[in-house]
Parts: sequence; C-alpha cells; structure tokens
Amino acid sequence: MISFEELVRLTAGKLLQYQQEYSIQYVLTDSRRLAHPVSSLFFAIKGPFNDGHRYILNLYQRGVRQFVIEANHTVRELKSEPSLRQNFPEANFLQVSSSLEALQQVTAYHRQQFTLPVIGITGSNGKTIVKEWLAQLLSPDERVVKSPRSYNSQIGVPLSVWPINQNHTLGIFEAGISRPGEMEKLAKIIQPTLGIFTNIGQAHAEGFVSREQKINEKLLLFQHVNLLFYCLDHEAIHAAVKAANIPAFTWSRYQPADLQMMSGAVRGSQYTLEFRYQKQNNLLVLPFTDEASIENCLHCLAVLLNRQVPAPEIQQRFLKLAPVAMRLEMKEAINGCYLIDDSYNNDLSGLSIALDLLQNQTRTQKKTVILSDLLESGLAEEVLYQQVADLVQIHGLNQLIGIGPLISQHQQKFNLSRVFFPSTADFLKKFNPEHFRNETILLKGARVFEFEKIVNAFQQKIHGTVLEVNLDALVHNLNFYRSRLAPATKLMVMVKAFAYGSGSYEIANLLQYHRVDYLAVAYTDEGISLREHGISLPIMVMNPASDSFAKLQQYQLEPEIYSLYILEACIQALPNDLRYQQNIHLKLDTGMHRLGFTEADLEELLTRLAATSQLRVVSMFSHLAGADEVQHNDFSQLQITRFRQMAAYLETRLGYSVSKHILNSAGIVRFPEHQMDMVRLGIGLYGIETAGAKQNALRLVGQLKTTVSQVKAVAAGDTVGYSRKGVADEPKQIATIAIGYADGYDRRFGNGVGQVVINGQRASTIGNICMDMSMLDVTGLEVKAGDSVEIFGENSNLTAMAQKIGTIPYELLTNVNGRVKRVFYTE
Ligand SMILES: *Cc1c(COP(=O)(O)O)cnc(C)c1O
Repeated sequence: MISFEELVRLTAGKLLQYQQEYSIQYVLTDSRRLAHPVSSLFFAIKGPFNDGHRYILNLYQRGVRQFVIEANHTVRELKSEPSLRQNFPEANFLQVSSSLEALQQVTAYHRQQFTLPVIGITGSNGKTIVKEWLAQLLSPDERVVKSPRSYNSQIGVPLSVWPINQNHTLGIFEAGISRPGEMEKLAKIIQPTLGIFTNIGQAHAEGFVSREQKINEKLLLFQHVNLLFYCLDHEAIHAAVKAANIPAFTWSRYQPADLQMMSGAVRGSQYTLEFRYQKQNNLLVLPFTDEASIENCLHCLAVLLNRQVPAPEIQQRFLKLAPVAMRLEMKEAINGCYLIDDSYNNDLSGLSIALDLLQNQTRTQKKTVILSDLLESGLAEEVLYQQVADLVQIHGLNQLIGIGPLISQHQQKFNLSRVFFPSTADFLKKFNPEHFRNETILLKGARVFEFEKIVNAFQQKIHGTVLEVNLDALVHNLNFYRSRLAPATKLMVMVKAFAYGSGSYEIANLLQYHRVDYLAVAYTDEGISLREHGISLPIMVMNPASDSFAKLQQYQLEPEIYSLYILEACIQALPNDLRYQQNIHLKLDTGMHRLGFTEADLEELLTRLAATSQLRVVSMFSHLAGADEVQHNDFSQLQITRFRQMAAYLETRLGYSVSKHILNSAGIVRFPEHQMDMVRLGIGLYGIETAGAKQNALRLVGQLKTTVSQVKAVAAGDTVGYSRKGVADEPKQIATIAIGYADGYDRRFGNGVGQVVINGQRASTIGNICMDMSMLDVTGLEVKAGDSVEIFGENSNLTAMAQKIGTIPYELLTNVNGRVKRVFYTE
C-alpha cells in the first residue's frame, strides 16, 4: 500500500491536481480490466498501438479517481488544469515523464517492503512451466505469490509483483525480454534472492546482436541473488555465469555438478532417473517422458533439494505434477453452451483474467462460472473469499456454481444466483445437461478438483476433426500489421467467409476487444449474425443483396455501394424519416473489374447522392488486383493513381471529407506510402503473408487436425479406396483418417499428392480422398488408431500445399467445412 504523497515523491512527478486521499490497493493499466474503481490507481500508458490517456474520461465515469498521466498526449480534457478541475472534479492527477516507468518505480518500492525469498526465472523456454510446477511442489510448505500465466513483460512483471503481501512466504516470478535494457528494469522490480536460468535458444533472437549479448542481458536478473540454479550443459550459460561470478547451484546430465543425473530410463508413461546429490545416489520417478519436461523437472528438483525437502516427500510431490495446460481453451458444448476451459489452476490473479474474458464474451447473454476453492493465495480465508465474491460481483455474471468445502462455507458472501457442492464428484452426480442452455460457462478449478471431468461432461460428442485457432497468434499478427501503420491510419479487418474459415463471431469479438476500427463481411446475413452475437463495431457489407436494405438498416450495417443499380435499391429502402442517416461506402473500379463505379458513372452517382440527404458517404475505396506480385507493380501504381484522382474529384463535389482506402494485406506490406485513411486487413491476420516478404514476422493461426480411425495391413497387389486407385505394390500399412473432401480436405490431395504429419512423421495419401475419410500409406511408421494427425499446421507450409494442387492458401483456409469444430485457445 502506498499513499498519493509517497507516489509523488517516488516518481518525482508533478502534482497536477489533488482533491483528497483515496486508498491505493490496485494498480490498473488496462481500462477493460477495471474491478475496484475507488481503490485503483490508473497508469495511462502509451503503447505502439494504443494510448491509455484515451480511456481516462471513461474510467472517471466508472468511478476511478486516481491517475498517473504523461505530458505529451492528445486528449483535450487533460490538457489544462482548469479543464481537469472541470471534467474530473474529484480526481487526483500526477504527471510523469513515463507512466510505465512510474508503474515500475511504484512496484519496485512495494517489493522492497517485503523480505520474503523471491525466485526469479528467465530463459528461452520453460519459464512458465517451471514457475507453475515449483509453486505446486512448494505449496505444502509455502504460501506462494507468483506471476499469473506468462505475465513476464515490462507491464506484466509490475502487475505480478504488486499483489505481494505480508502473508506470503515465497515469491516466484518470471521475466521475459526482447531487447537490451529491459532486464535491468525487471530485476529492480522482482529483486530476486534466488534465480533459475532455464536455458537459451540457439537462434539469436531479433533485438539482440548475438546469443552472448542475450545471455548477458538475461543474467542481469541475477546480479544480486544468493544462488542461481542452472544446467551446466548449456555451455554458453555456464561460461557467462562463471564470468559474472554469481554463486551457483548447478545440475548436469553428463558431468559432475551439485546435482548430477547418473542415468535415466523411460518406463511406460514415467521416467525413472538416478541422481547424485551430496555424495548419495537416489532414484526419482517422474510422470513425464519428454526431454523438455525432464529438464523442467530437474530445475525444480535442484530447488527442492537445496531447500532440504526430504527425499520421500520430493518423490510424492513429483508424482502429483500434471502437465501445465498453457492454453485457455474456448469450445462449444451441449445445448448451445460455450465453455471457457481454464481448469488447470485457480488463484486470484488468474481468476480475474478469466472472469474478464468471460465478461467480454458477447455470444450468449447468460454467463456462468464454475469455481473451485482457491489454493495458494496467501490471504486469510475471510479476506480471500470476500475478494472472490467482489470479483464475481463486478463481472456481472448470472450464476455461480461453487465446488469445494471452503467456497461452500463462504456462500453467503456471493450475491447472485448460486449453488454449491462439496466436491466435483457431487456436482457430477447431480449433473443434468438440461439445466444448461445457451450460456457461456467458465470453468476455473484448482488442479486437485479435476475439473477436466466436468469439461468432459459438457463437451459435445465430436467428429474427429478440429480446427484449432490460436487467438494469441492472431493478435500477434494484428499487432504486426498495426505496427506498420501510421498512428492515424484506421484498420478495417475482413472477416468475410467465416473469417477466412477461422470462425466469425470469435474472431470478431477478439477484434472488437482489440479495438480495430471496422469489420467487413461479404453478405448481409454475415453482418446480422455478428450483430446478434453482440458485435457493435461498425460493419461494412461488401455485397448487399438489393432486397436486404431494410435488414441492413435494422442491424445498423453499412453497405458497399458499387453501382447505380444498388444505389437505387438502397435509396428505395430508406425510411420516410428525413433525419435518418445511412452510412455508405463507395467502391470504385480502378482495374480489378469486379465491382465498382467507373469514371463514366460518376456524374450520375453525384446527382443521385446530392438529391438524397439521408445518405452519408463515409468512405471510398478500391481494390488492387495484384498487390502481392512484383510483376504487377506498375499496374498497382496505376490503380492507385486512378483511385486518388477519382476519389479527390468525388470528395470535392460532395463537399465534405471522406475516408479513402485501397490496401489489402499484401498492399500494407508493399505500398505503405499509400495507406491513406484506412487499410483493409485480410489473410495476413490469419498468418499468411502473400507478398512473401514478411512471412517470418507472422504466426500460424489455424491448425487442422484429425485422428486415425483404423490401421490395417494390406497385401501386395491389393488396392485401397474408390476406383481401386491406391495400389499396394508391396505389403503396406494403411491408416484411415477421419477427414474427407466434405470437411475441406481437397480431393486433389489424393493419390500421394497430399502429405500429413502423424507423431512427427510425414505420411502421404494413398488412393482417392473419400467424402468423410482418407487413407494414408503409413508403412514403416509408428501409427495407431486414435493418434492425432496434422492436416495443416506447425509442420506444413500452407502456401506450398496450395501450390501442389494448383490453388492459393485462401481457398485451403476457407474450404474447412462449417461442420469441423473450431477450438479457440490462448497460450
Ligand atoms: C478480401 C478483401 C480484402 C482483403 O484481402 P487480403 O488479400 O486477404 O488481405 C480487402 N479488400 C477487399 C475489397 C476484399 O474483398
């Protein structure tokens, strides 16, 4: 806790307005995450894509009274002291040179007030898993405060450290950096007393000149630790630690170290390792067999040994470890319900993030949370459940289902429709699917409550094929394109054709959350469906049917007007009320020759517009026919010139200014100087850079997966599938998989053209693709029924796949049939 006065002193900022003392219990950087208005301190941070100052008025209206702002912002209400007094009569304002720095100073100061041991974790991989596992492994002895999920950035670390209080006995925080200079700041906030350096990737990442520079930068986290845990076998780390003279606890697979692995063997789903510590050999059984998990376990083992946890205890605790589900999944369930599956842990900060997500789902009106007891909070029970109840309250939910003895004890604190069960088994015994209908349900449970059983009860029986959509990757791509735009350029995102196959509502909702300016769909029905699912962004409809204008008005959709004919249909449908205003977008044909007005139409267009006061042209645009191909550069330039001329002429004649735009995804990358007022992002958002120049900057969004239904041996001379096209010239193993052309696996991938990946191995199709199934030649491969098969994803290049059958990635994406279930997840 800190007073406003201390805040002024700490940040050496300028006190612009002080009205009265409020308590500062929460720090807030994202206006969407407001939970406790009166006791929150808002830091208005300017990022590359957003500016916190823009949300201050809104936050004030919602009850926030304490603000840290910067001097050079563009928000009028904040510009002068009289204006502050007038617009924010009850608020305190502190002005600093950097709000982010102020947040870091304040949390560093907060950290200093506590003497608890703190473990700082960095490295290229495994940070979050090691953190989560250590918290689990040490929780019988400690009250742990830790970073939620992978909050390890310049903003994430301060937000992670702020909740430390006097009840905690151990802190575990992760730190991630992307450029020099960042770790020093994180180290000041975390102030670790112990450190773990997990590993270092081979590639020297963007932002650093060399791998050594990156290692040394990361080491800055550990300058003052009493002990650093790391693996000797990462030679570059070892050399750097020695050079920096940091006291160390080492472990190794091959050489003498404080903890040495002597041998290891896989037995079924377990890994038994023999290790040597303090001259004694011991056995430890781990419930994992993959390399990465074993490395993560050894980091944890080193810490447990050093903290003198007795050997039998260590063994017991390791056997209870479960894989950390890094992803928070969203999926369809019974009776039109929708699940947010966050069933792997339950602590306060994670709960708050998940409730935000639930609140931001507009797909269903009704929202339910199923919540277990919270573990590892470090708060007195009374205080803890009051905070949980407050969180649930402010997120405006309809129903709470509490599971566990503790939450049940505190049920009277919850002020909404509620039911409680002592255990997951009790809930399942009484589970009636009919009680749940058209609602979004968040499942948030501590591991011991085994909420995965509840997830199973809710899940629909599904066809074996799923399209997994990585929402974090999508946001990454969105930010990549945004970073290429001038600050004033607006962003329209194309979500036509089911958002290029990814799922319209979910993508639109995410885009709305990330504040894009416009959405565009192909047909009126697509727009209506978005509105019915609660999407309130402006939506342009590119191809409105002439009889759909009444619906367009009803749902506040904005038509693309591309011909005099469609303009007439639009005018005919206008209501009699002369105050009614219909926003329209004019499409100009500059060479694509698909839709759009040509120069010959302009006079008549202007005459009609001048005669109809209810129409307002909000944008004019054109579409490039070959933006992604160098060979068409001259033509693209010609289109741009034509567009600029036509648009300037129309604008002058209309007598008011109108937004202009011409660039699609490839255009954004290739013709940044022609951004004009807005751009229209399409396929790039979904991770495909058709210009081919920036593919590495994008992340894969969709992975199409199915399962093996059956594996069988086929004798030499036999054939496989329809028309006997697949011929076994020798004895073969054949796997049948649950995807066919009706799902979107193109028939042209048959007869060896298509390749898929099973258990890391490539397999080719054999015979014709069937409607719902396909056959693979898996001779000599390790494949069994039930195995997962990647049709496209991490291991495939969608552009190359498309070329193989003479098409483009757009078609592969949009061909994934609507019956294929979409699973959305965040990492
Ligand atoms: C689909 C579409 C876009 C987006 O194109 P991408 O190549 O996917 O970026 C832009 N403008 C119009 C008019 C479109 O139809």
